[in-house]
Amino acid sequence: MHEHANDSAPAGGRPLRWGLVGSSSVAATHMIPAIRDLCGHEIVAVMSRDRERGAAFAKAHGIAQAVTSIEELLALPLDAVYISSTNELHAAQAIACARAGRHVLCEKPIALTLEDAQAVVDAARKAGVVLATNHHIRNAAAVIELRSALQQGLVGDLLSVRIANSFALPANLQGWRVDSPTGGGAILDVGVHMADSLRFILDREPLEIWGTMNSVRLGKPGVDDNAMAVVRLEGDLFASLHVGFATPFAQRVWEFLGSRGTLVATNPNIPTPGAQLVLRDAHGTRELPFVHRNLYEGTVRHFASAVSGEGRPAATGEDGVRSLAFALAWIESARAGRSVRIPTDATMTGSP
Ligand code: NDP
Repeated sequence: MHEHANDSAPAGGRPLRWGLVGSSSVAATHMIPAIRDLCGHEIVAVMSRDRERGAAFAKAHGIAQAVTSIEELLALPLDAVYISSTNELHAAQAIACARAGRHVLCEKPIALTLEDAQAVVDAARKAGVVLATNHHIRNAAAVIELRSALQQGLVGDLLSVRIANSFALPANLQGWRVDSPTGGGAILDVGVHMADSLRFILDREPLEIWGTMNSVRLGKPGVDDNAMAVVRLEGDLFASLHVGFATPFAQRVWEFLGSRGTLVATNPNIPTPGAQLVLRDAHGTRELPFVHRNLYEGTVRHFASAVSGEGRPAATGEDGVRSLAFALAWIESARAGRSVRIPTDATMTGSP
């Protein structure tokens, strides 16, 4: 069993002075409000590669300063950075920030190769700073309740898992996700989250994957917008996975099938209220109650607490390495047409 931080919401630690790396949509929509929801936390500056875009972003979000390089950002009095640039930039930016003594909250995937991901973890460890990966789904109330229900044995022995998590990617989020063969695609975008959610919910490591991927509607050649996999986890447990960007009217349905019952979570990972968790067993069908929480605020709260020496991030840098290892093995399996072993701590020496 692994130790996890987010069974209860921590206080949020001392207020932090933040720098944003990336004038991104996720920062604008979710993370700036989440940071500001925590009392006393301040966003000092945003870094964009484009001076005008950065200035416009700063103005729109009431941020005092916009800079165009990491060096300029790191010259400012900051405690922490939130990195939400495009995926190919994460590793180098995270390493630079860690080396400058800043605590790092990095978007997923934390890198595009396992070597780079491990280098990020090593840099943070060497600098003695907190490194977190924004696997925000760990903070979803439905997911925490689901994990707890499984731990209480509500389904008996867990026999198999089915995760359907394909949806329609809104037009404003398409861009690099469907265009870029370097860092785009549903597996690197959504597959990493499913990898982390499985590890979190089940407390088991994934060992081997049989993967497929293709482009059915939105993805440019070589960029997956639809992917399926079967994963073998510790304890010889099988999970099936479907992620994608191309399916309008699809629901996200996560099923955990056991010897005495089945748990069905519908939309458990959406940021707005609307998730549902149902247990079906010999007594009938009943809904398990939970109270919606802001998933992104959970990330910031755990991170800030960890910076204050209380607990650990909801998902650590090492968790980010693991979810990337899973995603890269999925892609390799799809390309090679065979199963691929997912590296574990003991075997993780380089890219799969
Ligand atoms: P965006 O496409 O909105 O932003 C990424 C970068 O693109 C920005 O940093 C910016 O570069 C550049 N950019 C922004 N607007 C424009 C524009 N109009 N024209 C040209 N370039 C532009 O990405 P997302 O917010 O969707 O994703 C950013 C990261 O966050 C990714 O790593 C993604 O995986 C992750 N993510 C995580 C989520 C989660 O829930 N954990 C949810 C969504 C995304 P610059 O900074 O140089 O200005």
